[in-house]
Amino acid sequence: MPKQPIMIMAAMEDAELDTLKKEVNLLKEVDEKVCKFYEAELNGYQIILCCSKIGCIQAAAATMLGIMKYNPIAIINEGLAGAMGRNIHKNDLVVGTEIINIHSVKTPNRKENEGVDANSWDLVTFIRGEEDKLKVEKADKVLVECTKNIEKEYTKGHVFYGRIGSGDIWNNEIDRILHLNETYKTLCEEMEGIAICQIANQFHVPVLDIRVISDNAILEEEYDTSVGKELQYFVIKLIKEYIANKK
Ligand code: SAH
Repeated sequence: MPKQPIMIMAAMEDAELDTLKKEVNLLKEVDEKVCKFYEAELNGYQIILCCSKIGCIQAAAATMLGIMKYNPIAIINEGLAGAMGRNIHKNDLVVGTEIINIHSVKTPNRKENEGVDANSWDLVTFIRGEEDKLKVEKADKVLVECTKNIEKEYTKGHVFYGRIGSGDIWNNEIDRILHLNETYKTLCEEMEGIAICQIANQFHVPVLDIRVISDNAILEEEYDTSVGKELQYFVIKLIKEYIANKK
């Protein structure tokens, strides 16, 4: 059994960590103000639950602190997300094989009174000395494989694999949502994954962002935080599968 813990990260304690907190053996609560850690055990294996609070700034700080403090063998980011396609519904899962930043943008040149059009903005990642272009953060292949091994155990909805859009933005303009889906192939949007994956990948910590659909603005499926429960049960299965894989 691996000695380093797996760190599970979520933004909203009541909706995204409540079930996990009940299912693991909680040992110690560590309040770091920026975020909260729960040192815990699952079948004798060390687990760190981290509540980062909402948004990329919180998530980046929490990821950094969690890596420094606990040296995790892997990070799983789980939580809610808004669907960006007509075929993705509340309760479906999206496994983020790729994550992109949907709030890092470069606008075209427009003169005074020429207006604003968000759909003409390019998503780019700014890196000194490099061309301003989209940078894609990748999920760990083993974590994705482990998810595939157990996907049939999720019975509440479909399981999709693909790209997640992430940023400090909640889009409710249907034309914007469809534009991002068509141009960048994002299946859903959320507010933490890019920060967590970008930091984890820089430290070469295997990472996965897995999300349950809580709302679909296109289909007028309203935001419902109760969907987090079944995702958390699935994440417990995923942790067990990953540990078994590492033996
Ligand atoms: N005040 C609200 C805040 C919700 S923010 C509340 O109490 O619920 C939404 C959270 O769920 C974020 O952590 C984000 O990652 C995720 N999320 C769910 N649906 C989303 C959507 N349509 N767009 C962006 N983030 C979404």
